Amino acid sequence: MDGATDRVGARTVPPLLDVRGLKKHFPIHGGVLGGVTARVHAVDGVSFSIAKGETLSLVGESGCGKSTVGRLVLRLIAPTAGEVLLDGERIDTLPAARLRMVRSRMQVVFQDPFSSLNPRLRVREILAEPIRNFGLARGRADLEKRIFALMDKVRLPREAIDRLPHEFSGGQRQRIGIARALATDADLIVCDEAVSALDVSVKAQIVNLLADLQAELGLSLLFISHDLAIVEHMTHRVAVMYLGRIVEIAPRAALFARPAHPYTRALLSAVPVPDPTALRRHVPLTGDVPSPIHPPAGCHFHTRCPHAFDRCRSEAPVLSPRGPDHMAACHLAE
Ligand code: SF4
Repeated sequence: MDGATDRVGARTVPPLLDVRGLKKHFPIHGGVLGGVTARVHAVDGVSFSIAKGETLSLVGESGCGKSTVGRLVLRLIAPTAGEVLLDGERIDTLPAARLRMVRSRMQVVFQDPFSSLNPRLRVREILAEPIRNFGLARGRADLEKRIFALMDKVRLPREAIDRLPHEFSGGQRQRIGIARALATDADLIVCDEAVSALDVSVKAQIVNLLADLQAELGLSLLFISHDLAIVEHMTHRVAVMYLGRIVEIAPRAALFARPAHPYTRALLSAVPVPDPTALRRHVPLTGDVPSPIHPPAGCHFHTRCPHAFDRCRSEAPVLSPRGPDHMAACHLAE
């Protein structure tokens, strides 16, 4: 999919992030000699783009490859194939020195703020670290000013600057994680299940905070979540992943109102709706996700799809247009 054609809104503006044909196959070693006996097809040809100031949510069940996409985008792991471009520059092949500079522009917020924060560092030190690493402060006073500004942005009280992570609630710890991600003036934040471990009411507060920050700072967000309900009110577009592939990508309103792929429909039928008279038709999702070591031939979803027919078992569907900026990979109604 071309980066200039899969986005909402101004098509002439080049994307901030452009992911093309991304693959990650993890080798499995075994046997007497420890050779490669199989490969996990974690990500299998994923393409999407994110415009400046846009949120794209990547959703799917556990094990669909969405977190691997996040790690590939951040260059925490190298792809097997494909390209990742940030502002037009390929980052999947960058040498280490240049990659270090580019890293300041891409940050991550992880699922578990407690394990991602050093328990022995105070908020002051947690936030000072990335600012120092990228040489962003001019002296101590500027450093402290930046730290207070970050705390204000994520609505943490300034008097908490010398507290340790264990002195905060889960939601507050996630605010520290978000402040740390903002410390380098990044323009792309990857949120990897960033609210999944939080209570329902805290989840909503953090999602609202992320949406506010995005609007205020013009951030681009790649929001990775297994839960479609979370993304419904804060995303511009949604990409649905199944077994390493994107099966549907669409603007939020179109995806929630007119899902084209049977897998998306099944995921959506589990999302509660505020108006009980507008219940979504329940589409049961039976069986487990097949192994990414030996994914089913043809359409990966055919082993669980209530509409599967002969062609689905032999021919992989490709993403095809279903509406403005709306693509789905299904042989039905192509
Ligand atoms: Fe179902 Fe066939 Fe569509 Fe796959 S291609 S989602 S198996 S109908």
